[in-house]
Amino acid sequence: MNIGKLLTKSARTFPENLAIAYGSRELTYAEFNARANRLANGLRGLGVQQGDNVAVLMYNCPEMLESMFACFKAGCGTIPINFRLHPREFAFIINHSEAKVVIISPEFNEVLVDIRDDIPQVSYIVSEAEAQESFLDYDAVLSAESDRFEDADIAPDDVAWLFYTSGTTGQPKGAMLTHRNLLAMTMNFYADMCPGFGPNDVALHAAPLSHGSGCYAIPTIGKAAANVILDTKSFEPEQVLKTIEARRVTTMFAAPTMIKLLIDNPAVDLYDHSSLKSLNYGGAPMLVEDLMEAMAKLGPCLVQLYGQAESPMTITYLSHDDHVLNGDPAQMKRLASAGIPRTDVEVKIVDTDDNELPLGEMGEIVTRSDLVMRGYWRDPEATAETLRNGWLHTGDMGYIDESGYLFLMDRSKDLIISGGENIYPREIEEVIVQHPAVREVAVIGVPDPVWGESITAVVSLVAEKEVTETELIDFCTEHIARYKRPKSIDFVEELPKNNYGKILKRELRDKYWRGKTSQVI
Ligand code: AMP
Repeated sequence: MNIGKLLTKSARTFPENLAIAYGSRELTYAEFNARANRLANGLRGLGVQQGDNVAVLMYNCPEMLESMFACFKAGCGTIPINFRLHPREFAFIINHSEAKVVIISPEFNEVLVDIRDDIPQVSYIVSEAEAQESFLDYDAVLSAESDRFEDADIAPDDVAWLFYTSGTTGQPKGAMLTHRNLLAMTMNFYADMCPGFGPNDVALHAAPLSHGSGCYAIPTIGKAAANVILDTKSFEPEQVLKTIEARRVTTMFAAPTMIKLLIDNPAVDLYDHSSLKSLNYGGAPMLVEDLMEAMAKLGPCLVQLYGQAESPMTITYLSHDDHVLNGDPAQMKRLASAGIPRTDVEVKIVDTDDNELPLGEMGEIVTRSDLVMRGYWRDPEATAETLRNGWLHTGDMGYIDESGYLFLMDRSKDLIISGGENIYPREIEEVIVQHPAVREVAVIGVPDPVWGESITAVVSLVAEKEVTETELIDFCTEHIARYKRPKSIDFVEELPKNNYGKILKRELRDKYWRGKTSQVI
């Protein structure tokens, strides 16, 4: 099924339901569908055919969802671009994806004028008329045609979303997510992540729609529930909490760093967030200490997901029911896990030769399901490497316990090898973050003439609290094997993070490894 039909069907059955709220602007499903249809017609008028690609570069706004759904309906690949990237990266993605049209919000007019010569294959830039003579006006493209559109008859493996990931090396890669993938993702959301999700639900988009939050919009639209889009350009905890209270928000996606910002903000106790049924977090590790604090402050609404661009939204999930603080050691241990595979997802652990490892043994996490991407756009080598033997190789290390819970340790490139021992930074981070003076921590391997690598913890402190390097190292020795304790601690104001709030370990490592060769590839 064309994933765009989710909107067509919701508009037919629930035309008056609130589809999108953005500041004081509100659109019903009938209005949202009509505008997406008009845009799909407009794109056809510009010569965009089924199978062509259209890039979308916008701050979160209703037009972003309209553009994505117009592309789905027209059978085009949509490429939502992360608005926080560098203009050079915008140009790379637009060129690499061979986008015919780029739809932007007016804030990007200037940037697009600057890179216009670098993206010669683009026929049209749709924005606001006054920006430049060569730009087309979004509303003019929209109103040019009828508000009826026959959703394209696609094949399930046609590309619906080209999801550019930062990748581990070199240029970003475009994960080809098909209509089948997005539909499987949607059905999984209803079955596992948010059972009972329906037209009365309200989803808040506080993270970029070009990534996780955009994925959530799809099941939200499929059930004619409301999408509340914040009109702020960055994550503002108080605004988020205020909106949850005002709109009676029931579900939201947040990266772990966003959850931390929410619970560290005094506003968490000022606003009523009891309407939240599922606060879905993931995309990066959530240390148990932070998770327990979030559970105490936000109540029984947390659900964890583990996924990646190549298998959107989720591979495994830790349900509401597993988020309990009942003191039972087996149950408490699960808080450190990424949960169990979703109902229709297979996960196993393999060694470097792709042999399946027994339960409890650490290796690379691989997965197989209808969620797994078709491959990387125009990159057969990377596709063959990542989709080896029919399984998606995630590049993440972990093990599965006797009950089927996945314990995700680290990306294989973050593994530290010291004196031939494999050391998983997450285990050490879980300890250090328990120290009351520590706000955030990242553990990395740094060059060591004797051991190959040694362990350094980069730490930021809670305001007005202090701890010395020796005290923190002693604190580790109390909790973990001596060989895993950091040899040094680096104190910093802030840890470097990427646009989605993930800690940039590569950047931290670079400082130490410049001019040297890491053992870890
Ligand atoms: P992206 O493709 O940008 O969404 O990044 C996906 C990567 O984020 C995964 O391969 C993991 O390394 C990491 N990740 C995603 N979810 C989790 C999670 N729940 N816990 C720890 N790491 C995660």
